[in-house]
Amino acid sequence: MSNPIPHDALDRGLALQARLDAFCEAAWGRLRGTIERQGALANGLDDAQVVSYELVFASAELHAMRAMLDYAVACGGSAAPLETTLALAFAADAIVKVRHRIDKVRHAIGIDSAGYCAMFEAGELLEFCQHWLAPAHLAAAGSQILAAGNGGRSLLPEDKQIIAASCARVTEEVVAPLAERIHREDLTIPDEILSAIADMGCFALSIPERFGGTAPDGGHDNLAMVVVTEELSRGSLAAAGSPLTRPEIMARALLAGGDAAQQARWLPGIAQGKPLCAISVTEPDCGSDVAAVRLKATQTDGGWRLNGAKTWCTFAGKAELVLVLARTNADPAAGHRGLSLFLLEKPATDDHAFEFRQPQGGVLSGKAIPTLGYRGMHSFTLFFDNVFVPAENIVGGPQAEGKGFYLTMAGFAGGRLQTAARACGLMRAAYDAAARYARERKVFGKPLADYQLTLAKLGLLGASLRACQEMTYHVARLMDAGQGQMEASLVKLYACRAAEHLTREALQIHGGMGYSEETPVSRYFVDARVLSIFEGAEETLALKVVAREKLATARSL
Ligand SMILES: Cc1cc2nc3c(=O)[nH]c(=O)nc-3n(C[C@H](O)[C@H](O)[C@H](O)COP(=O)(O)OP(=O)(O)OC[C@H]3O[C@@H](n4cnc5c(N)ncnc54)[C@H](O)[C@@H]3O)c2cc1C
Repeated sequence: MSNPIPHDALDRGLALQARLDAFCEAAWGRLRGTIERQGALANGLDDAQVVSYELVFASAELHAMRAMLDYAVACGGSAAPLETTLALAFAADAIVKVRHRIDKVRHAIGIDSAGYCAMFEAGELLEFCQHWLAPAHLAAAGSQILAAGNGGRSLLPEDKQIIAASCARVTEEVVAPLAERIHREDLTIPDEILSAIADMGCFALSIPERFGGTAPDGGHDNLAMVVVTEELSRGSLAAAGSPLTRPEIMARALLAGGDAAQQARWLPGIAQGKPLCAISVTEPDCGSDVAAVRLKATQTDGGWRLNGAKTWCTFAGKAELVLVLARTNADPAAGHRGLSLFLLEKPATDDHAFEFRQPQGGVLSGKAIPTLGYRGMHSFTLFFDNVFVPAENIVGGPQAEGKGFYLTMAGFAGGRLQTAARACGLMRAAYDAAARYARERKVFGKPLADYQLTLAKLGLLGASLRACQEMTYHVARLMDAGQGQMEASLVKLYACRAAEHLTREALQIHGGMGYSEETPVSRYFVDARVLSIFEGAEETLALKVVAREKLATARSL
C-alpha cells in the first residue's frame, strides 16, 4: 500500500498544472510567431499541422488534469483518499504525456534546451511524477477502486443524480438485455428501447420548455443532456446513447436559424421522438470539408428538387425527418455560402435498404453500410433522384438561403459535447466489465485482480474514466453559461481517444474471451473506434477548430 497523502499534494499538482498551462500557451504563441515569420498564417496552417496536432492534445491533457485535480479538491482533498489518489496518478500521467508531445515538436517552434529543462527537468516536477506514478501507488489506486466499487463519488447536483438514476434503470432493465442481440444480429433498434427513451423525456433535453421540451427557454441544460447520454451509452452506444444526438443537432439548428413557424411545427414533436430524426451532411467525396458539399438543390414550383448522393446518414431508415445540407448556389465561388439546410420528410422503415417514391415524382433510395460496430441505427448511403422538398422546409425560409453551413455548425457544438458523454458511458461499461472479470478470472492460481500489473492498469484506467467524466461535466457547465465552444471540441477529442485506450485494455484483461463475441467487451472495443471519426474527425477537429482558435488568441512570440 502507498503512504498517506501529503496535505499539500493537490496544491502541488495544481501549481504544476498552472505552470504547464502557461508553458503550452507560450508554445502556441511561438507557433504563431513562427508561422507569421514564414508568412503562412493565411495559407491554412498546413505546414504546421504536426506541431498544432501535438499542442492540441497537450492542451486537452492539461484541461483534463485541471478538471481531475479540481474534482479531488471539491471532494475534500486528502480527506477523500480514493478521489485524491486517482487525481494525483492521473495528473502525473498527464504530465508525462504532455512532456512527450512537447519533446516531439519543440525544435520546430524554437523551445531551447534551457526553457525545456526549466520546465520538464525541474526537481519538483520529476519528483511529483515519480512519486504518483510509482507502481505501488498505481496498484493502490486500483485496489481502492475495487474495494469501493466505484472510481470516486459523484459531485453532480442532486437533481442530476436523480435523472442519472432513472436513466440507469432504463439502461439496466430495457437496453442492456437487448444490446448484445442488436449488435450481433445487426438489428434496427427495437421500439421498446425507443419508447422507453422517449417516455423518459430524453428526446426533449435539447428542446426549450416553450416547445414542450425540458431545456430552459433561452438556454440549454447541457449537464442534463450529458448525464442522460452517459447513462444510456453505458447500455449501448448505438442503440441508446446515440439516438439522442440527432434531435440535439436538429434542434440546435432549428433554434439557431429556423423561422417561428418551423420551430412551432417541428420542435414539440421532436421532443417526443415523433418524428425520429437523421442528419445528412457527409457525401461520398466530402466529409471533413463540409464547405465542399455538392448535393444539388434546384428551385422548382412550390419548392426545391434535390439531386445527388449522401453517405453515412445514420438512422436514415427509421427517421421520418432528415436534415439535409445541400448546395443552392452552384457558383463554385460561393463556397460555404452557397449551402442551405432542408427538412426532408419520409416514411420510417426498419429495413437495411429502402426506396421511397414521392407523389411529386422524386425517389429517395438508401442502403445501410455494413460496419464494424455502432449497430442499431445503421448508417446509410442515400441517392436523391429529383427528391422534392416544399418551399416551407428550407430552414429559416427563403431569406436563410446560403446560411446552411453556419446552421449546421451551430448544431455540431452540442453534438461534440454529447459525443464526449457517449465516450464516458462506453468507458464505464468497459471498465465495469474489466473489473468484474479481473476479480473472477484466476491465472497461475489466483485472481487477475490480485496481481500488481492488473491493479495498476485498473488504477490508471479508473482515473482516466473519472477525468473524462469531470471534464465533460465541466464543459457542459461552461456551455450552459454560454461559453465552452472550443472546450467542447477539446473534450470530444480527449474522451474519444481515452475510450479507445480503455476499451482496448478492458478487452486485453479478458484475454481470449475479450476477442470472442460472447462477451460485450468486444462490442465496446469496436464501438469505441468510431468515436474519433464522427462528429468531427479527430484531425479535422484538432486542426481546423481547436488549433485555429488557439492560434487566433495566442500572443505571437
Ligand atoms: C458510423 C458513422 C456514422 C456517421 N453518421 C453520420 C451522420 O449521421 N451524418 C453525417 O452527415 N455524417 C455521418 N458520418 C460521417 C462522418 O461525419 C465523416 O466520416 C467524418 O466527417 C469524416 O469524413 P470522411 O469520412 O469523408 O473522411 P475524410 O474527410 O475523407 O478524412 C479522412 C481522414 O483525413 C483526416 N483529415 C481530414 N482533413 C485533413 C487535413 N486537412 N489534414 C490532415 N488530415 C485530414 C480526417 O480526420 C480523417 O482521418 C458518420 C460516420 C460514421 C463512420
